[in-house]
Amino acid sequence: MNSTAQPHSHLFHRVSTLPATPDPRPEFALIDWLRTQAGAHSEIPCGIGDDCAVLNPGNQQLVICKDVLAEGTHFTAETPPDLIGRKALAVNLSDIAAMAAQPMAAFVGLVLPRSRGRAFAERVSEGVLALAREWNVSLAGGDTNSWDGPLVISVTVVGTLPGPAVTRAGALPGDWIMVTGPLGGSLQSGRHLTFTPRISEALALRELVSLHAMIDLSDGLAGDLFHILRASSVGAKLFAEAISIHSDVPADLPFTDRLQHALRDGEDFELLFTVSPADGSKLLALPDLGTPIARIGEIVAGSSAVLIMNGEEQPLSPAGYSHSL
Ligand code: ADP
Ligand code: MG
Repeated sequence: MNSTAQPHSHLFHRVSTLPATPDPRPEFALIDWLRTQAGAHSEIPCGIGDDCAVLNPGNQQLVICKDVLAEGTHFTAETPPDLIGRKALAVNLSDIAAMAAQPMAAFVGLVLPRSRGRAFAERVSEGVLALAREWNVSLAGGDTNSWDGPLVISVTVVGTLPGPAVTRAGALPGDWIMVTGPLGGSLQSGRHLTFTPRISEALALRELVSLHAMIDLSDGLAGDLFHILRASSVGAKLFAEAISIHSDVPADLPFTDRLQHALRDGEDFELLFTVSPADGSKLLALPDLGTPIARIGEIVAGSSAVLIMNGEEQPLSPAGYSHSL
């Protein structure tokens, strides 16, 4: 290892203790409070309190992702503020899981509605902080603004890769298409606010098998599958009867309607991945990963996808959620 390329934590003055005098200005008082809540991390010698955070991840690759959430699109005016903060972090942890990476640090951008005051800002932040603690993620920075509009929250997460990144490109004809957990009904049931990001599952899968391609399901199986197909230049067959439909989808609907929920509702935040048939069989033979894993299809040559239902093939279109511009 080139010692000049790797910063050492002893070279940095640690910014962990608050100054003795409190800052009376509301923005900085909130930031001071966040500093007391942020959590120490052995690989983050400098977190909240300076112009930038300093990360010292050792000899590893980093992954970085960001999601922006806005009232009216990802949550409503009635959503409990802690669940908004939780979701803003959780969707990023789901992206980190989709690369089979380990989350390390979060950076939170807040545009706060002035009318809701400091208590609201704290409740949003507490939702972020509680989930961050669960996953040993340090809140290492951010930015705080306010305005007369509704809440906007943006979270960036930095993670480390224990091995090669698992991208969307890499699916091969013959691969099994597999998915964690049942799908559908997340938005209607509120599961999109409380889901568990599949980090443990992704890290366990990385240890057990060779993951060829992976994505987290945010826009619906039918839409997100096409990201893997396009990135990998392959096609797919999906087995309709093998797709596990979540109990959040009303049980009294006909099967084809229930299936449409599983294919298109979105915000499931499960993992969709492809592996060799040998690795796929190995996974199905395992007792449990905590979350059930199903084989729902196969990668084929070409670029199109079909759904096989009652033994008959029908084309599968990529329609899933897309923000209109
Ligand atoms: P600057 O003006 O240099 O950008 P700021 O006053 O915006 O500094 O932020 C001061 C410190 O507080 C920085 O370390 C920044 O990352 C952190 N910070 C600001 N807002 C938040 C927040 N909502 N969550 C976490 N850290 C924050
Ligand atoms: Mg700033």
